[in-house]
Amino acid sequence: MVASAVTGPDDLVLSLERMNRIESVDTTNRTMTVQAGTILQRVQERADAEGMLFPLDLGARGSCTVGGNISTNAGGNRVIRYGMTRESVLGLEAVLADGTVVSSMNSMIKNNTGYDLKQLFIGSEGSLGVVTRAVLRLREKPRSRETVLIATRSFDQLPALLKLLDSRLNGTLSAFEVMWADFYALVTSFPAHQSPPLKHGYSHYVLAEALGGDPATDKERMLAALQEAAEEELVADAVLAQNESQRTSMWAVRDDVDQIYQYDPMYTFDVSLRIGAMKDYVDSVEQELLAEFGADRYRKFTFGHMGDGNLHFAIHAGSDDAVHPLIERCVYEPLRAIGGSVSAEHGIGLEKKPYLSISRSDVEIEVMRRLKSALDPNGILNNGKIFDFPQAA
Ligand SMILES: Cc1cc2nc3c(=O)[nH]c(=O)nc-3n(C[C@H](O)[C@H](O)[C@H](O)COP(=O)(O)OP(=O)(O)OC[C@H]3O[C@@H](n4cnc5c(N)ncnc54)[C@H](O)[C@@H]3O)c2cc1C
Repeated sequence: MVASAVTGPDDLVLSLERMNRIESVDTTNRTMTVQAGTILQRVQERADAEGMLFPLDLGARGSCTVGGNISTNAGGNRVIRYGMTRESVLGLEAVLADGTVVSSMNSMIKNNTGYDLKQLFIGSEGSLGVVTRAVLRLREKPRSRETVLIATRSFDQLPALLKLLDSRLNGTLSAFEVMWADFYALVTSFPAHQSPPLKHGYSHYVLAEALGGDPATDKERMLAALQEAAEEELVADAVLAQNESQRTSMWAVRDDVDQIYQYDPMYTFDVSLRIGAMKDYVDSVEQELLAEFGADRYRKFTFGHMGDGNLHFAIHAGSDDAVHPLIERCVYEPLRAIGGSVSAEHGIGLEKKPYLSISRSDVEIEVMRRLKSALDPNGILNNGKIFDFPQAA
């Protein structure tokens, strides 16, 4: 997503494809020990077969590996409830640049014995070590799943709707995905395959999901929360999935991100910011794009994991590649003043390197370099990603 796995002619590529063994599952301690090349979907399926849940879930589930998830600290659709990958990793094993094997295969939730070394390898995009094994944290499998698609008349209703659902659903709210009208129309119109579960014309569409433990009452609780939201005029229309097929169709709408590639080239963005600053930020990006390109010269689609303050933009502005940095400026610059992040969940790689300083201070970047210098002094591990090492003269 950010050219973090891109290689040059002088690089060696290390494949962990055959390190794909699920070594053990412990349902009492609620852990699974895996090799780093294991595909995420296999981990999810094995957890499910054991009556447990591995909560990390994202569109790339069928191809991405646990090692990749760890190295990018992947987020996905259930962060609001279970946190990012970091929250689902209890321990790991990594091989350092000098061949040292750091076995930090902790399987306890609490362990404050000095530095928590695993955190160094989570989200560091393979620049500090090669992750080879991991102890994953499992959760109890939910016994109910309530999925609802809600339409609103403006952005203003969304923060209050999120708070209302979160407070009324007894801690079971697991997803709060928002699609702006432009994205919703794209993924529910020909040539996209899904028909719109709610009619076009509203300003925003929320896909919310609760994972609960009591099928007998969870549906009633969701309906009561929706009723209250409607009375407070936070909901213009809503549809609750009545069966697995309807739920799958609703998620298929949200997951059909590939429709953005009807426009070529399409540039994608993954930013995060305070929910309270979101409306003004999206407006300022629009203003910047208007000023840069004029109303008829660009297409923008907006969606994201709003419950986590995470927005994705997909923007097309003609076929000339020279527009890419101009679009990046329109998206990233307004984040500076509001303390937002240029990368919510995809990392920095090569693509966002020029913009790291919008979200990180010089001191923070210098400390990152010191860590790199301590663990990989010769710069042999995914070098040139995130920041220049050694520092460019
Ligand atoms: C369709 C789609 C949807 C997505 N949706 C989401 C989403 O909702 N939320 C989200 O957070 N992300 C999302 N992503 C990004 C996704 O999280 C990452 O692509 C994925 O986690 C990376 O895993 P991978 O095995 O594909 O790693 P790769 O792409 O192979 O590598 C990614 C990085 O990790 C490093 N790396 C890989 N394995 C190891 C290892 N064993 N040790 C050390 N470093 C390693 C690589 O060097 C590279 O820097 C999506 C991606 C796609 C394609």
